[in-house]
This record gives sequence, structure tokens and C-alpha cells, in this order.
Amino acid sequence: MTDVPARKTVTGTSADRKDVIIIGAGASGLLCAIECGKRGRSVLVIDHVERTGSKIRVSGGGRCNFTNLNVTPDHYLSRNSHFCTSALARFTPRDILSLVEKHRIAYYEKEAGQMFCVKSAREIITALEQECGRAGVEILLSCRVSDISHTGVFTVTTSEGAFSSDSLVIATGGLSYSKLGASGFGHEVARQFKIRVTQVKPALVPFVFQGRDQKVFEGLAGIAFLASVSIGKKKIQGNILFTHRGLSGPAALQASLYWEPGEPLLIDLLPSSDIYEVFLSARQSKMELHTMLAGHLPKRFVQTWCDHMIISKPINQCADKELKSIAEGLHAWKIIPKGTEGYDVAEVTAGGVNTDELSSKTLEAKKMPGLYFIGEVVDVTGLLGGYNLHWAWASGYAAGQFA
Ligand SMILES: Cc1cc2nc3c(=O)[nH]c(=O)nc-3n(C[C@H](O)[C@H](O)[C@H](O)COP(=O)(O)OP(=O)(O)OC[C@H]3O[C@@H](n4cnc5c(N)ncnc54)[C@H](O)[C@@H]3O)c2cc1C
Repeated sequence: MTDVPARKTVTGTSADRKDVIIIGAGASGLLCAIECGKRGRSVLVIDHVERTGSKIRVSGGGRCNFTNLNVTPDHYLSRNSHFCTSALARFTPRDILSLVEKHRIAYYEKEAGQMFCVKSAREIITALEQECGRAGVEILLSCRVSDISHTGVFTVTTSEGAFSSDSLVIATGGLSYSKLGASGFGHEVARQFKIRVTQVKPALVPFVFQGRDQKVFEGLAGIAFLASVSIGKKKIQGNILFTHRGLSGPAALQASLYWEPGEPLLIDLLPSSDIYEVFLSARQSKMELHTMLAGHLPKRFVQTWCDHMIISKPINQCADKELKSIAEGLHAWKIIPKGTEGYDVAEVTAGGVNTDELSSKTLEAKKMPGLYFIGEVVDVTGLLGGYNLHWAWASGYAAGQFA
């Protein structure tokens, strides 16, 4: 395949007029740029960091979980749960797989439809850059945007000069991982144009324990096992992982999407068995509780649990009431997290540009024709498992047909 690099250096003057300017050279911005370029639009992508696709590079532990074969609108949270339907219908997992296959990138299904690169997320970035090159897209990196104005056309004032365009696409992502270039820029642009932004919070993020719990469980860092985490009526089954400060792992990360400060988490540490029944089946046994529990949970966890949460003794010396209460503690461990690890560690920002303000077909702002918001900056947040990148592709594709 011929490598057609995207032009990465342009110098702006007030005469630098483009059809489309896209701010943000991440997943949604690059996909949108390719689509606009294919339609013959002159496209300039601007980013303030020195590389394209910074988050793609670190996603999926460096292997990029780039889509999920099971994508449906039900895998997204938003104030308007139907908003994402139109874009998802027009850009399916098959579409991103076609691009991946076109660039001969080896991929595999890890679990439950989660598609990963075999080698490296960098291959996806290279593919997107090559597609940008073919579509005639210009990319301007390490470029700071200081002002945006609209007087018939959009004027974007930057550290490299001023550029103007008919369409302006905001693809600057959310607030998480500022070290990779994340900023609140997209939300600020929305507010500048009187476009509402919903409340935002870090999500897909580990929980931090309160002081006592942190002390008790810090020694368990690295231990993971299957559990089920409930917040209100929402129940998520999957692995939990103890960290030095709290709880991570897929089930805890997913739970953070629904959690509000002060709310308790109820954790079933043994979702696949009824431990009270197990106790009763060994009612006359002289076996110590901790020995029995070690057959169902990791030994180090059981040790800590027995040291701090229950008193271990032979099962035949426990009253029924006592066994019931121990079982309840294991099936409904209640913790009130102190908080989460925040935007530094969160995989995504939940919330964003209010979807009532955008067309679900084009992602264009209803109040400001020509202004588009795509990707994570919009109030559409995917569950864990490739759904967030898929939203970035799908929304970028949708806007790319109109911008
Ligand atoms: C560690 C980690 C792992 C992840 N793994 C996965 C995964 O495996 N699968 C999955 O589906 N999702 C994953 N995600 C989430 C996914 O990466 C994002 O949801 C997705 O990249 C969002 O795409 P986007 O185009 O909206 O924003 P981004 O990809 O974040 O791109 C935004 C771009 O805008 C630029 N920008 C920001 N502010 C400005 C500004 N003021 N001026 C100019 N440019 C600016 C940024 O530098 C960046 O390049 C992961 C996220 C993280 C942090």
C-alpha cells in the first residue's frame, strides 16, 4: 500500500481559507477529516499536542480495543438515550473492520465482541494518517488555538496564524488524561455559542476507599476475582481488582459510570454461589471458616477478611444467625467510596455537550449552523469494551458527510 502522509505543516495567514477546520486530531477528528476530504472538501485538522491519536495510542493497554461487534445504543449512557442511534446505524463495527483490514492490521476478538489489534494501536493511527493523506487532509500539530469567532465564516486564531472555514468541527474529546492533551476546550466552545453542556464527571475510573477501608485492604493490591457490583438497581458482574487505594477492574470501572458521590456500592463477592447454603452443607464440620472460604475466594483476600471483618472459627461452633450474617457480608459488602481516582486516570468523561443542542443525523449545532461536535465531547458515553472508540468513529463519520 502506498504511504501518502498527511501534510503536517501549514502556516496560517488570514487568507488561509478552508472548507472545514477540525479541532482535535484524535479518533473522531481524524475519521471525520477523512470523510470530509473524500467529498472533495479542503480540510485542516488542528491539534495542540505534537502527535495525532494520543489516546488511541494508549487505548486497550496499547492494543486499542477499537470496536465491539455487539454495538447497540443500549451500550451508551446519555441524557437522551436515542441520540446515538442514527450515527451508530450508519457506521457499524463492520465499517471500522473494513478500514483495519484494508490496512492489513491483524486483529482479534478478546472477549464478548471486543476487537483488539494483535500488535499495536499505533497501526490504527498510521492507517488513519494514510487515509488523511489520500483524502488531501492537512494536519497542523503543536498548534494552540487562542480564539474562535464567527462572522459569516468561522475564524480560528492559533499560534500558527489565523484560519477560516465554512464548517468548524469540535473533536477535542473529554477532560480525562490531560497529560495526553485532554482539555475542557470543547465545552468552552459550546458555552461560547450558548450551547448547553451537561454536568461532566470522570468515568470508567477506579474507586478510592475511605481511610479505614484503605488501610485494611491496601495489602491486597493486585488481587482480582469475579464479583458483582450494584449501585441502586444497576448490577454489573465482572472482575474487581484491588489497588493500593481502592477498587478497579472491569466491574468497578463500569460501576463508576453510574456512581454519584456519597452513594454506596454493594458488592457480591461470591456471585456464583450461595455461601450460606455452602456453610449449611458443612454444618457439623470442624473446618475453620477461613479454610472453607479459601476454597471460594483468593487466600490473601480471605486472610484480610477474616482478620478484619469476621471472626474465623470452626463451622460447627457458629450459630446459624452468625453464619447468615457472615454470608450476607460476603454477598452484600457495602462500601461508600471516598471518591474516584479522577480525570488523571479516568478512561472517559461522562456528560458533555447536551444532545438536545445537536442534530443526531449530522452532529451539527442547532443554534449555530456549520458548527459540529463529535466524539467524547458530546454527552454520549460508552460502556467498557470498545464502545467509546466506536462512538468516536461513528460520530466522526456522520459529521463527515455534512461538514
Ligand atoms: C487509557 C485509556 C484507554 C482507553 N482505552 C479504550 C479502548 O480500548 N477502547 C475504547 O473504545 N475506548 C478507550 N478509551 C476511550 C477512548 O480513547 C476515547 O473515548 C476516544 O479516544 C475519544 O475520541 P475523541 O476523538 O472524542 O477524543 P480524543 O481521542 O481524546 O482526541 C481529542 C484530541 O483533541 C486534542 N485537543 C484537546 N484540546 C485541544 C485544544 N484546546 N486545542 C487543540 N487540540 C485539542 C487532543 O490533544 C486530542 O488529540 C481509552 C481512554 C483512555 C484514556
